Formats: sequence, structure tokens, C-alpha cells
Amino acid sequence: MVATPAPTVARAPLKPAALVPDAAPWQHDAAVALLAHVQRLTAPNPGRMTGPGTNSYLVGSVATGYVVIDPGPHDPAHLQRLLAAAGADVRAIVCTHSHPDHAPGAYPLQALVMAAGRPKPPVLGLPSAVTARAHSHFVPERALADGERLQLHDPDGQPRHTLLALHTPGHAANHVCLLLEEDGLLFSGDHILNGSTTVIDPPDGDMDAYLASLQRLWVLCDAAGVRAILPAHGRVLGESATAIAQLVQHRLRREAKIARVLAAHPDADLDTWVAHAYDDVSPELWPVARRSLLAHLRRLDPSLFARVMDQASVGPSLTPPGQTAERPATPRPAP
Ligand SMILES: [Zn+2]
Repeated sequence: MVATPAPTVARAPLKPAALVPDAAPWQHDAAVALLAHVQRLTAPNPGRMTGPGTNSYLVGSVATGYVVIDPGPHDPAHLQRLLAAAGADVRAIVCTHSHPDHAPGAYPLQALVMAAGRPKPPVLGLPSAVTARAHSHFVPERALADGERLQLHDPDGQPRHTLLALHTPGHAANHVCLLLEEDGLLFSGDHILNGSTTVIDPPDGDMDAYLASLQRLWVLCDAAGVRAILPAHGRVLGESATAIAQLVQHRLRREAKIARVLAAHPDADLDTWVAHAYDDVSPELWPVARRSLLAHLRRLDPSLFARVMDQASVGPSLTPPGQTAERPATPRPAP
């Protein structure tokens, strides 16, 4: 009798080469196939706060239909391109969070799919919390449970692509990351970015929650074999666990510097603290740094945080708030 080999784990190793070299110039007219069943279409909303623009991702194929992750702003041309890339066969629309560069395209895309004669795809995600800014209001048709799996099936009914939803508060209270389990790819939304630093804008942004969510994702990278991170702004990140460890290190170093500044200038105002704690960052970014300093202050000294929040509220706001600030061209740390 010839022994048959023991069945192996279904997930094939994803070599870095399995993802296309992610170095082509940014463009917004056509989707880029990162894998046969993973496409990235970047919205035409580049800027200081959004980097090259918001990455919308499509998971699936002609055989399974598609899940759209982060349809982006309500940009009719971008939504038409998403519809075309999916052949109008969108089975679900997922928003990683409620910010205006991610969620407003969801319901207009749903309407386009239905106008094309396809069944109504559900809009999924988590509702914005009461702490969200007014322009970040979002209500999904159904809230995703933490740990819920969304599956696309082959025509014969076999599951083909599985997206695991993970609640990752921190950048926004209603932030969700998605793990494509068969391929070990993490769609990180704005929780982890490439080329820019996630802004933590309290009270909806929370540094404690952000660091805890990063730790959860770091553990997941090891346990689930996450090999690459696909952010909502910027290119694919490899070396997932290392990338996350570096993010945590960057935050804690900044926090230590802020603690030293507070100790040296206990009676100064917020702008003075920002000027000292972010003296390695372009003053152009100080309005954003101001929000991040507050997020650290909330951890370091909650009562002092409460006292300066009133003062902070009359200062320059983020434009648009709660998104991402591009790092300076020179390799200096960002907020
Ligand atoms: Zn964003």
C-alpha cells in the first residue's frame, strides 16, 4: 500500500514575489493587481493628509464576486472605476472607519451596483462613536462583530477567500482591520500606514487603544502568518511584525520626549510643549502634532489633559481632521 502524503495546511506560503513589485508611479485611472484576486485602486485625493490618495482594495475574482474595502470619498469617477474593476459584481462594501476619505463612497457605490442590475451589497463596518467629528458620521447597514468572517465562495459553493474582521480602535473608535486569511494579508486601514504617520486625534482617537490594537496585530502577525500589510495610504509593507514593532517604538520614544518636555516646562502652554517635543518636525506639521501630543498627554497626565483640552479646541484644527499627515520628505520622525 502506498501511503498518501498527509494533507498540508491549506494556506500556500506567500513569497514576497507573489505580490507585484510595488514601485510603479501612483496613478488613479486603473486598478493595480497585487495578486490575481487582490486589486488596489487609489482614489484621486492625494494631499498632505492622505499621501498618494486613499487606497480602495478589491478582493475576489470573476468566479467569486468581490468585496470592496474602503470605497473612499464620494468621488463619482473613482466609484465608477471601482464598479468596472469588479464587473459590477460587488458582494459587500466594508469601511475600515468613518473618516471622510474612507466611508462616504460606500452608499453611492451600493447604488451604482444596484443600478447595474446586481443584488444590493451590504455596507459593513462599525458605526461612528459619539466622539467622532461631525464630518465622520457613518452608520453601516450591519455592524461587523469582532472576529466575524466574511467569505467569498466559488461557484460550487466552496469558500475561496476569507476576510477576518478585527476591531482595532485607536485612530478612530470604530476602526476595523481585515485579515485575508488564505493569503496572510492584513488590510490595515489607517491603523498602519506606509510613508505617513497615523494621527491620533482625541477624543475619538485614543493612544492607549491605538497601542493595544498594535500589540494585538503584532501577535496576529506571528500567529496567523501575516506576511504583508496593505495600508489605506501608501504602498504594501513587508516584514509585518518588524514594521509594527518599529511603530510602537516610535510612539513610545515620542511619548518619553513629551514627558521630558512637560517636566522641564511644567507651566508652559500647549504650543510651547509642541515646539519643544516636535522640534525635529517641520512647523507645518505642528497643528497635527498638537493633536498627537494631546493623545500622549491623556496617557501621561489625565488631569492635565482635561485642563488643556479647552485651550486645544480653539487652536488650529486638522484639515481634514483625523486623517494622516505625510512625513517630511527627509527621513525625520513624524508626529
Ligand atoms: Zn485615511
